[in-house]
Amino acid sequence: MTKSKGTTEPKASQAEPRKGRLANKVAVVTGAAGNLGSEICRAFAREGAFVVMTGRTPERIEAARKALIADTGVSPTRVDTAILDGGDPDSIRSALNKIKSVFGRIDILINNAGSAGPKQPLHNVPLTTEELERCGDTETVQQAMSNILGVTWNLARVAAPMMPAGASMVNISTIFSHTRYYGRTAYVVPKAALNALSRQLSVELGPLGIRVNTVYPGPIESDRIRTVFAAMDNIQGQPENTTADYFTGRMSLTRPVDGKLSGKPLPMPKDIAGTCLFLASDEAAGITGEEIDVTHGLSAKRESSSTYMARPSMRSLDGAGLNIFVVAGENWDDALETAKILVGSGARVRLGLARNADVSQSRARLKAQGIGDELTVARFNRSEPGAMEDALAAFETDAGGPITGAVIQPVKPADHFSGPLLKANDECVAKFIDIELVGAIAVARSFSRYWRAHAQLPSPPR
Ligand code: NAP
Repeated sequence: MTKSKGTTEPKASQAEPRKGRLANKVAVVTGAAGNLGSEICRAFAREGAFVVMTGRTPERIEAARKALIADTGVSPTRVDTAILDGGDPDSIRSALNKIKSVFGRIDILINNAGSAGPKQPLHNVPLTTEELERCGDTETVQQAMSNILGVTWNLARVAAPMMPAGASMVNISTIFSHTRYYGRTAYVVPKAALNALSRQLSVELGPLGIRVNTVYPGPIESDRIRTVFAAMDNIQGQPENTTADYFTGRMSLTRPVDGKLSGKPLPMPKDIAGTCLFLASDEAAGITGEEIDVTHGLSAKRESSSTYMARPSMRSLDGAGLNIFVVAGENWDDALETAKILVGSGARVRLGLARNADVSQSRARLKAQGIGDELTVARFNRSEPGAMEDALAAFETDAGGPITGAVIQPVKPADHFSGPLLKANDECVAKFIDIELVGAIAVARSFSRYWRAHAQLPSPPR
C-alpha cells in the first residue's frame, strides 16, 4: 500500500486523474477475490475508482489484483489490496486504518463478503467443531453467522467514520432471505439479519450524507450456486437440477442470449457489478434505504410467513389439548405471563429457563400462586443442545402427549441491545450473534429433531 501525505485527495489521482462514473472515488470491496467481488472491482476500476480489494488470504487477493490489472489495463497504482477477516474486528481496524492513511477517506464500501454457510437441514446443522467434522461441511453455525453478518456489521462500524458526506455503502444480501431455501438456515438467518442491519444503517448514516442500499442477488451464474443447488438436491434426495428448476421457473424474465430466447439463463456477476456501480455512483445520489433485486424477476414476497401462537394481549386462543413449550429469555417474567395466558386458554405449558436459580424461584412463585401441573418449569439452556432435547422428551412424558407448539423469546430483554448499530462495540456484536442468533438456531434444531420423531402429530406443530 503506497503512503500518501494524509491529504484528502488520493496521491495517485494527482499523477493520473481518471474519468468515469466513479472518477477518483476510493472504493473498498470485501470478498474481492470471489466471484462477484472480483467483477465489482473490475467494473469500478474501469469507471475511474481507486479500488482496494480486500480478502482473508494474501495469495488469493494478490492473484485477483493481478487478474484485474491484466483484464482492465488500469494502472497498478489504482488498485490496492488489504487483508482482513470480517469476524476479527482488530484485523478490520488495522486494514481500514491503513487505507485511511493512504487514501484519506472511503467513498464507497461494498460489503460483498459472505460465506455459503453449512448446507445441512435444520435438524443437522453443526453447532460444534466435532459436529462439523462428523457432517463434513465447511462451517459451524457460529462461523457462518460471523462470516455473513459479522463481516458486514464490523466493516460498517469501522468504515463509517472514514466515509465523508456523499459516500455510498452497498450491502449484498440474497433473494433467498425471502424464499424457501432448504438446508440453508445458517445462511438465510444471518442474511435476514443483514437486511435489517442495512435498513437501520441507512437511517443512522442518512443524516451524515451517507447512502446505504441493499442488493438482493438471485442465483448468479457461478460454480458456487451450482455446488449449493447440487447439495440442496442431494440432502433432499431429489433428482439433479430440481432446486435450480424451482428457482428459474419462478423468474419472469427469459433473457436473450446472443439474441435468442432459449432456456433460462441465470443473472451474471456483471449484473451485480452494474447495480453496485449505479448505487455507488452519484447517479444514485437520491437513493438510500432501498432494496434492489437482481434476479430476472424471481418472485419473492417480502412479508413474513411466521404465525403468532400467542401474544400477551391475545386472549381468545383455544388451547385445549395443546402442549406448549415456552422458551423464556432472561427476563422470564414476561414469558411467565405468556405461559399463564396459554394455560388460561386450556393448554398445558412448560416454561424453559436458562438458569437453575430462576427455575427454583419461578417454581416457588407458581406454588405460592396455587398453579399446578398445567404450568411447570424446567431448565432449558440454549448453549446445551443435548440437554434441550432431553427437556423436550421429559415434557412429553409428563404431559402424556407430544409437544404441539413452542413460543421462543429472545434471550436478552428488549432494552439490552439498544442504541445505534454503528456504536455497538466488538463484544456487543459477538454476543448478539452468539446469544440471539446461534442460540435461536440451537433451539430450533432441538425442536426440529423432536418433531421429526413425531410425524404422526394430528396437525403441524406451531
Ligand atoms: P464467493 O466467490 O464464495 O466469494 C465470497 C467471498 O467472501 C470470498 O472472497 C471470501 O473471502 C469472502 N469472505 C467470506 N467470509 C469472510 C470473512 N469472514 N472475512 C472476509 N471475507 C470473507 O461468493 P460470491 O458468489 O462471489 O458471493 C458474494 C456475495 O454475494 C456473498 O455475500 C453471497 O452471499 C452473495 N450472493 C451470491 C449469490 C450467488 O449466486 N453467487 C447469490 C445470492 C447472494 P476469501 O477470498 O478470503 O475466502
